[in-house]
Amino acid sequence: MNTSDIFNFLKPKNELENQGVAADNQPCIPNELWVKCPVCKNPVLSADLNENLKVCPKCSYHFRIGARQRIEITVDEGSFEEFDADMTSVNIIDFPDYSRKLKNAKLNSGENESVITGLARIGGCQTVLAVMNSQFMMGSMGTVTGEKITKAFEYATDHSLPVIVFTVSGGARMQEGILSLMQMAKTSGAVKRHSDAGLLYITVLTDPTTGGVTASFAMEGDIILSEPKALIAFAGPRVIEQTIRQKLPKDFQSAEFLLEKGFVDRVVPRNEMRDILTDLLVLHGSVPEISEQTEEEEKAEEVEESERI
Ligand SMILES: [Zn+2]
Repeated sequence: MNTSDIFNFLKPKNELENQGVAADNQPCIPNELWVKCPVCKNPVLSADLNENLKVCPKCSYHFRIGARQRIEITVDEGSFEEFDADMTSVNIIDFPDYSRKLKNAKLNSGENESVITGLARIGGCQTVLAVMNSQFMMGSMGTVTGEKITKAFEYATDHSLPVIVFTVSGGARMQEGILSLMQMAKTSGAVKRHSDAGLLYITVLTDPTTGGVTASFAMEGDIILSEPKALIAFAGPRVIEQTIRQKLPKDFQSAEFLLEKGFVDRVVPRNEMRDILTDLLVLHGSVPEISEQTEEEEKAEEVEESERI
């Protein structure tokens, strides 16, 4: 058998096969149209899932979402002004393989770091926002992550603005050694100075928030919200069980367990998050700005209504 025979054998019977249409004209659905929910195991249409803010319509499981999408669904349209977008980590202690991992993280996430910070409006209220990104090395906290968060707090302190931080993290970035652990103290210092200025800090814990991030700014919010069923932990359950030699309770380290124990103030479903954040900002003194666009839209609506009458 020569090589051309092999290619003839492997060639699809029907050219449409490559486009997700079966050779025998049976309907075939490309995989990306459906997503299997990891909790209830039901197939969910991707379009339905996106429309539902990536929450399973059958069991309310909150799929993880990237930082950009989080910003898009949380802030007023077009209001986000990013800080320090070009800041990025380098292999500061020459840790083996870290340079390659950083390069891959940048390529896979399309971001320069594991946190995006900036200025935004939520329900018309101006706030400084920091959103961690699980798609970049599982949101691990390196020196640049700490620096960006610290700078965001300092900006908020200087301009008398509240801060909202969405956390998701595997903890401190071990590839930066002690320098990553130092970010816990550095960010906490910035949070304290912001707090001393009498300003509001809200954290929103999302799945998973662990390690050095939990042990620093994630748990330092004046108000701590969480998405349902989020894993919130410092160390893993096995390490704790081995240390204290006790069996841990069921659902230990879940948002709901922490709510019961008083570590979390409220568990907020994703579709209510924007409204709750707006209410909290207004309650603590933020004055909603009505954008020109909104006024124009209102006028257009009034015209539409009068035409109907
Ligand atoms: Zn489900």
